[in-house]
This record gives sequence, structure tokens and C-alpha cells, in this order.
Amino acid sequence: MMRVLAIGECMVEIAPTDTVGEFRLGFAGDTFNTAWYLALCAPDVSVSYLTAVGDDAISHNLRAFMQASGIDDRFVQTSPDRTIGLYLISLDKGERSFSYWRGQSAAKTLANDPDRLDAAMAEADVIYFSGITLAILDAEQRAVLLSSLRDARRQGKAIAFDPNLRPKLWVSSEEMTNAIMQGAAVSDIVLPSFEDEASWFEDATPEATANRYLNVGATTIVVKNGEAPVLYAEGSQIGEVPVVPVSNVIDTTAAGDSFNAGVFAGHAMGMSLHNGITYACSLSREVVQKKGALVDINPAALLVKSV
Ligand code: AMP
Repeated sequence: MMRVLAIGECMVEIAPTDTVGEFRLGFAGDTFNTAWYLALCAPDVSVSYLTAVGDDAISHNLRAFMQASGIDDRFVQTSPDRTIGLYLISLDKGERSFSYWRGQSAAKTLANDPDRLDAAMAEADVIYFSGITLAILDAEQRAVLLSSLRDARRQGKAIAFDPNLRPKLWVSSEEMTNAIMQGAAVSDIVLPSFEDEASWFEDATPEATANRYLNVGATTIVVKNGEAPVLYAEGSQIGEVPVVPVSNVIDTTAAGDSFNAGVFAGHAMGMSLHNGITYACSLSREVVQKKGALVDINPAALLVKSV
């Protein structure tokens, strides 16, 4: 059984409902979304989430939600003097915008104990983190996390990384791009989205993005590109998987996160990387057709479509 450990921040999501002025509480966060879709699509995979939460009602609700979703919460640390971060989705004529309250979130302390990180990683085969995981940590804890990941990789764990570039979470774009390349340098698998990479690293093509990450030592690169084909590089082998575009996209939130879950699920099911990407595309294709980060999908139907 493949064991996956995802590391990062899960927030409370306050989303508008169809009734003006009424909102619904949910939970979401990039690495958490991936863990959630993976647990849903690959029940044979053991999925754990490492983060920190508070000791209040909403933090307890998050833990209960994780357990109900099939996500192991043994590596969720409690920071009694903090609570989980929160974001509000606002709608203005169909356009979504996000307001965040996460500056003091418990998740910022997730790497304050190297022994805890090492113990969690020791029980995993694949360890997944993102540029947002790095962004929420101060420089010292970021270095602790990177060092644990480096050690885990030496011990034969596969490290997977989504750069998820979010300039607002960083002091400067230079700090962001430096930290992202440090994250890639401890990783085997990098899962970037081309549009962001082109903006912040000035990559002319998805091939340039793949090469930049191969050059720092990653061996498998999967470059997502919206409705354009997915480019992948596995060692010296390069391939492309076409995307079947959706005519009416409802909400692209978690498109990339669910895609990553599809790649891991495909691998766990014994698929080639190419077939795993086809599977990932059919999963994220469903996700962009529904509102919200965590949407209702039928995993069995996906398998039929991607064969
Ligand atoms: P992105 O992070 O925007 O590059 O999107 C991640 C993945 O979501 C893509 O590789 C596609 O598989 C899927 N996706 C995004 N936008 C669309 C779309 N308009 N139609 C179908 N699939 C999409």
C-alpha cells in the first residue's frame, strides 16, 4: 500500500451560497485539496496530512472532517494559542475574489519540531508539499522543513512538489523564486503550472519550465497548462497529453491540486506516467465544472473515461 504524506495549511472557507447574504463554511487549502482528492480516488492509498491547528471548536471540526474524508490526522499538531486560517470568497458579477485571515494561523508552526517532521516522513513513501507550504513558514522553519525533506529523500522517499507561486505570500518575488528553486532541489517530482512559471521565471515554453526543474535535480516534471496539453519529462523522455477542454468552466479553484492527486492516484494504481496524467486530466476536468475547491465527483466514472 502506497503511503502519502501531504504537508501544508488547511483553512476555513466561507463561500457565498445561491442566496444573497448567506454563506457556507467549508475547509480547503492547496495541499489539503490534493490529500482530499487522493483519499477519494484511491482508497487503497494511505493519505496523511501534516499541519498544525488550534484547540478550539473549528479546529476540532477540521480534524473530524479529515477523519470522515479518510485522511489520517495523527500528524496534525495542536497549537493551543492559535487557530486555523480563514478565507472568504466574494462574488462580484460572477467574478470571485478572496480575502484571507491567515497571518497568525496555527499552520505557520507546522515545522517547529524537526523530530516530529522526521517521524511523520519515516512512515511515508511519497511526501508532498508546495510553494504555499514554504511561503507560510518563517526562514528558520522553512530551512528545517527543507532539511527534513532532503534527509527523507536520501532515505529513498519520493518527494513531490507543486511550486504554486503566490507572490502575495512572499516579501518579494526574488524571495519567492529562490525558495521555490530550493524546494525543487529537494524534490524528485515537480508539478508546476505553466502560466505562473512563465510570469515569475520568464520561461518561454513549458519545455523551458521542465528543463529548469530538471537542472536542479528533479527527475519527473509535469507541467500543467490550463486547457493546453500537459507536458511531462521523465528523465530524458519527454511527452505530451492533450486536455479535452471544458466549454463552460464554472470555477478553476483546485484544478491543479486535484490534478496532482490524479497523478499520485494513477501511480498507485500502477499506471504509466502518461496514463496517470490522462487520469489526472479527467479528474480536474470534473473539478472545474463545479463550484468550490472540494467538489462531489464519482471516482469510478473517472477510471472508465481515462482508459
Ligand atoms: P492549470 O493549473 O490551470 O494549468 O490547470 C490544471 C489542470 O486542470 C490542467 O492541466 C487541466 O488538466 C485541467 N484544466 C484546467 N482548465 C481546464 C479547462 N478549461 N478544460 C479542461 N481541463 C482544464
